[in-house]
Amino acid sequence: MAMNTPIIDFHIHITTADEYTDWFLKWLRAYAGEEALADLRQILSSPQALLEYLDEQGIDYAVALAETNPLITGTCPNDRVAEFCGTSERLIPFADINPFVTADLVSELQRCVSDLGCRGLKLYPTYQHFYVNDRRLYPLYAEAQRLGVPIMVHTGSSVFRGARLKYGDPLFLDDVVVDFPELTIIMAHSGRGFWYDTAFFLAKLHANLYMEISGLPPRKLPTYFPNLERNADKIIFGSDWPALTDIKGNISAIRRLPLREDTKAKILGGTAARVLGLTAK
Ligand SMILES: [Zn+2]
Repeated sequence: MAMNTPIIDFHIHITTADEYTDWFLKWLRAYAGEEALADLRQILSSPQALLEYLDEQGIDYAVALAETNPLITGTCPNDRVAEFCGTSERLIPFADINPFVTADLVSELQRCVSDLGCRGLKLYPTYQHFYVNDRRLYPLYAEAQRLGVPIMVHTGSSVFRGARLKYGDPLFLDDVVVDFPELTIIMAHSGRGFWYDTAFFLAKLHANLYMEISGLPPRKLPTYFPNLERNADKIIFGSDWPALTDIKGNISAIRRLPLREDTKAKILGGTAARVLGLTAK
């Protein structure tokens, strides 16, 4: 394990092949090859197998996301994610709460955090079709803020069937960060596609708003974010595994970027460790 700055992947899915829809499995085969599916089955066969994979990829900690997406996947429920991650402190479970499926958002968050040990929440507005500044979510944000639980939100494009891109505009988060100034929010994919500038500007403006860069080719980061160093403390590495299989390739690519060394260390884990409240060991 790293002694100083750990390497943290802030975005992996532990949805099993059996939980994915046929549509997604077909996409994965076409996109990443037949062996990616075999690897998915093997790597998620046990927490130990996942930890071995993370070791191979040079990852110290990974944030594992629950997902309840009727449109693109089956379901990777909070209870299973928490149980899977419960075997190792290196696996950090994030719950998902779908406002169209769960009636009492606050109770479910409390259950996920207190009973299951989830350390954060992932919202999927693009797939579940709500605006993040919808008032029906405000009690959930208030409780997350009270509990000190960070929320990651999908922003930007998606190629998955059923996604509606308007819900991925990071600008809607501006309301949320203004109304919940102590709440930590992470923009997954940093507004990928047509909202890079919006995501960057908002992260610069708001102290507790962060950008996560999964799904973005590392070599393109200086193009997407020409003033990246100005947000050096606000950018967090993630892979979106299994959508990306060569995590260590992306880590190496980030290490080769023409950025300050301390900026790269922050991106690869320093900032995530702070957001997650991980202490150096
Ligand atoms: Zn993802």
